[in-house]
Amino acid sequence: MSAPPYLAPALTVLRDEINRRWPRRDRTSDGWIGDARHQATRSDHNPNERGSVDAIDVDEDGVDFPTIFAAIKRHPSARYVIYERRLYHRLRGWKSEPYDGVNPHEKHFHLSIDQTREAEQDTRPWGLLEDTDMLDRATDTPIIQAALHNTMIGRSGVTVGVALDQLRAVPAAVAKLATRVDELAARPAGGAIDYDQLADAIVRRVLTGGPAS
Ligand SMILES: [Zn+2]
Repeated sequence: MSAPPYLAPALTVLRDEINRRWPRRDRTSDGWIGDARHQATRSDHNPNERGSVDAIDVDEDGVDFPTIFAAIKRHPSARYVIYERRLYHRLRGWKSEPYDGVNPHEKHFHLSIDQTREAEQDTRPWGLLEDTDMLDRATDTPIIQAALHNTMIGRSGVTVGVALDQLRAVPAAVAKLATRVDELAARPAGGAIDYDQLADAIVRRVLTGGPAS
């Protein structure tokens, strides 16, 4: 008798992080275990000999794909992504390649992880929650708020609260800033965050508005 199928724990962690970060996202095109059509083919949506399903589909609506893709590329379990007729494979440096399968993946993206017990059971975070937590921590400090205030009033007249709301509406910007906080925090000289530099990065991002490059 074969084991009952289950979603690989690594992918459960990722799905939970996506759901917590984008609680109102559309889940219509979500999926994990293959239907009868999948099961007639070779697909990562079919349970393997351990019962593990090593792929998920995530609806594109209400999430920020670049932010999720950046997290995927950092996780050692991730193997390949298919989205919008493109394939991105870890073994080929995640470069964009044409994908001409039957399903163009225009409403959801597909992620497969490695078909190994180690990859499936790797429950380390994918990092989608740390980004926002870190930004919240950084912008919670009075010195950052003061720096933001000074710069914003001088340059655009918006309040810090408005600026931060605008910032949070652009998840890729949040991710980029969190990376910047990481860098600043990790600097060997004293290890202290350079709040002026950070505030400057935040303000520049808010004022230019668009997604992080
Ligand atoms: Zn899929």
